[in-house]
Amino acid sequence: MNNQIIDIGVNLMHRSFHQDREQVVARAAANQVTPLILTGTSLRNSLEAARYAGRYSGKLYATAGVHPHDAKSCNEETITKLKELAALPQVVAIGECGLDYNRDFSPRDVQRKWFTEQVRLALELDMPLFLHEREAFKDFIAILKEHAVQKAVVHCFTGTLPELKAYLEMGFHIGITGWICDERRGKHLRDLVRMIPLDRLMIETDAPFLTPRDLKEKPADGRNEPAFLLHILQAVARCIGKPAEEVAKATTETAAGFFRI
Ligand SMILES: [Zn+2]
Repeated sequence: MNNQIIDIGVNLMHRSFHQDREQVVARAAANQVTPLILTGTSLRNSLEAARYAGRYSGKLYATAGVHPHDAKSCNEETITKLKELAALPQVVAIGECGLDYNRDFSPRDVQRKWFTEQVRLALELDMPLFLHEREAFKDFIAILKEHAVQKAVVHCFTGTLPELKAYLEMGFHIGITGWICDERRGKHLRDLVRMIPLDRLMIETDAPFLTPRDLKEKPADGRNEPAFLLHILQAVARCIGKPAEEVAKATTETAAGFFRI
């Protein structure tokens, strides 16, 4: 395959990449996975991601945001700092932000408050949102509807058909991870992915998490990395019944247009 593919969700500042971050980026590029969009999950992490991405102009980009798990650490200054980060040329979206009622690491009302603040920031700056939702669909969509959000990607989508329809009706983009490679857990997703128009579909590893279960050569430490995106692309292409090249080209164009890179 001759097409480059964009990994829209890499947690490259995660501690599991401390020893070999540069090699991970190089291996991704050698596997045609470029550029990478580094996911910012807390203020500190977003700062580190933006700083690191700044060293690889045109190859690495970053998002700036606070994951719902970390909402409890937010204050007014957090939003000011995110706004400063968002002004950097390598920062291309606000997020990862959203609601996670599965683990409830932050109280739900606190999650809603800081999700709303980040939605407002994205609208103020006219930037896309990189969204996370787990078992919180009702409150999540309510906040997005209230603010008439249009430019957003629901990353690592694993939801239901009605949820997918609601997102597509709102004009949102959908991020698909290696979850789809899981024989058992990913079964419903294999059917749903066919309903996502190619100009709304993006692919991501969510590395170092969600290592595809059916990799032929499994990494010894179980760590996922962006070089495995090609494997996810092929799984997605099989599900929708189109050649991998066509899906690669389409998802790359979609991601480049969405993040304006
Ligand atoms: Zn997430």
